[in-house]
Amino acid sequence: TTAIAPTIDALDWSKGDGLLPVIVQDAATLRVLMLGYMDRAAYAATLQQGLVTFYSRSKGRLWTKGEQSGHVLEVVSLETDCDADTLLVLATPRGPTCHLQRASCFPTAPAGVLAELDALIETRERERPEGSYTTRLFDGGIRRIAQKVGEEGVETALAGVVQDDEALLGESADLLYHLIVLLRARGLSLADVEAVLRARGG
Ligand code: AMP
Ligand code: ZN
Ligand code: ZN
Ligand code: ZN
Repeated sequence: TTAIAPTIDALDWSKGDGLLPVIVQDAATLRVLMLGYMDRAAYAATLQQGLVTFYSRSKGRLWTKGEQSGHVLEVVSLETDCDADTLLVLATPRGPTCHLQRASCFPTAPAGVLAELDALIETRERERPEGSYTTRLFDGGIRRIAQKVGEEGVETALAGVVQDDEALLGESADLLYHLIVLLRARGLSLADVEAVLRARGG
């Protein structure tokens, strides 16, 4: 359901010396990653390569984000604002976007906590770091993970009927974590659940 990228001529290049401000968001977490500028050539290069390419005002040339660091921004979708003088890009970052090695150039830019947890769990599944509880869960197999989801579900339900907000919140967090691990163990993600919810119109 990705919107078709606007054509170069659909954009209003008449303001700001032929440069459009471009907001880049992480497609998975929706965290704002950075803001840059594109001229026509940068926009054309972005569409052609599928990698976010700016016109760098300090370098005075086209700049494909990640050209040295490898921390490129893969374009997922691209849209323009109401009067076509600003771009919003959703991208998948291949490494920290900020040159200070932070995910975002805005140090405390908010992101979806669950989406971040989902991404962390996916990394754990791939890398299986020793000593990690998540690694042990994946190593234990799907039946064990499913059993944990059942236990946490029951604990959440029990906490819900007694007057203990702290317990309910804690058990809810346990349940969500184990549920994401279960989905991941089946090759699914929270984003797939969100798609179901969205389709329900909720
Ligand atoms: P990179 O595009 O990641 O290969 O980085 C190349 C150079 O661009 C770095 O040495 C920084 O000077 C600059 N740079 C990288 N990322 C950013 C950023 N998010 N905002 C501003 N400048 C950046
Ligand atoms: Zn505008
Ligand atoms: Zn930065
Ligand atoms: Zn629990």
